[in-house]
Amino acid sequence: MDKNVLLQQFEEKFGEGGDIRTYFAPGRVNLIGEHTDYNGGHVFPCALTLGIFGIARKREDNKLRLYSANLTDLGIVETSLDDLVPSDAAGWTNYPKGMFWTFARRGYKIEKGMDLLICGDIPNGSGLSSSAALEVLTGLIIKDMNGFDEVTMVDIALFGQYSENNYNGVNSGIMDQFASAMGKKDNAIFLDTNTLEYEYAPIDMPDAKIVITNSKVKHSLVDSAYNQRREQCEAALRILQKNMDIMTLGDLSIAEFEEHKDEIKDLVMQRRAKHAVYENQRTIQAVAALKKGDIAEFGELMNQSHVSLRDDYEVSCGEVDALVDLATSVSGVYGSRITGGGFGGCTVSIVKNEAVDEFKEVVGKGYQEQIGIEAEFYVVDSGDGAKKL
Ligand code: ADP
Ligand code: MG
Repeated sequence: MDKNVLLQQFEEKFGEGGDIRTYFAPGRVNLIGEHTDYNGGHVFPCALTLGIFGIARKREDNKLRLYSANLTDLGIVETSLDDLVPSDAAGWTNYPKGMFWTFARRGYKIEKGMDLLICGDIPNGSGLSSSAALEVLTGLIIKDMNGFDEVTMVDIALFGQYSENNYNGVNSGIMDQFASAMGKKDNAIFLDTNTLEYEYAPIDMPDAKIVITNSKVKHSLVDSAYNQRREQCEAALRILQKNMDIMTLGDLSIAEFEEHKDEIKDLVMQRRAKHAVYENQRTIQAVAALKKGDIAEFGELMNQSHVSLRDDYEVSCGEVDALVDLATSVSGVYGSRITGGGFGGCTVSIVKNEAVDEFKEVVGKGYQEQIGIEAEFYVVDSGDGAKKL
């Protein structure tokens, strides 16, 4: 996206002059470790070079004037720092507003409002975390414009999660905001969501690409089902805690889980917990595989992750299963799985360089035939976390 074009758009909407600043926050793709981030487990996301740009200028009053070049229906949405209550009518602006609200709750006094234009090149609502990108972007802008130097990028990630949980009502874990705030080019982030200890792991795959496929479907139960999975895992944890000294499901080895799983009498709940435990262990194993350059093992673990998300956690859907089945039918595909919250959205696949064209052809054609929708493909690179440009 051209920074000058965005600047021009900003000036058309909000007028010229003043100290206009430009920022960017990326979306993310999670390579493995799905639905583990609210279970105290590990995740392994990387920030993308796709994301959301923000052009902002401080105002002299306390108004917020917000405009999205992607979702233009609402036009410029005007609100003020005195009126930070979420509402359906506020649409997408509930995300930036939630960040102002969160800073205020944390004791940061923001007196002046701003004009803000955002423009993304990431599909929204597809599991690549455009919502987290928008939160982190807004957090960085608030920090920079108000001189809150003591606020770190990890704080911004935590504020973003707090905002999404408490302002937007989605009980998401820390992964998405952490990846958007802390990403590093050519690396994925091996993050322990229980301790927030993290390590960058180089994505060293000279013979392969990360290919994201967008199913272009989003089933409406995603938010309610997400919160329900979370409750089921928390209930399973409480049962296991009666006989074990654990803080999260992420503390359990597979052997420990297998020994104690029958204490969870509800078999659906038991399968939810199984996914959380096994997926965490798979993630640890996958990072080790990547570090020793064993992409075949990494891919195999991605395949297992998908099966677990499909059968035990039950957050896939027919459309996404079709994409994964088509993907794994192509030789030259190391692994493929659903990524993101589930019930639609995207898959992530690791595809040999020479097989990328065939991958698009076979998956695209097969998906069109089976589901009647044209899938979209993004061959992505991992990029840096949010920054001022
Ligand atoms: P995901 O985070 O997987 O992309 P979500 O449903 O969590 O999906 O977040 C998508 C929402 O984020 C959109 O419905 C919109 O409210 C907001 N959003 C994302 N990108 C933009 C954008 N470019 N302009 C305005 N709002 C956006
Ligand atoms: Mg989101």
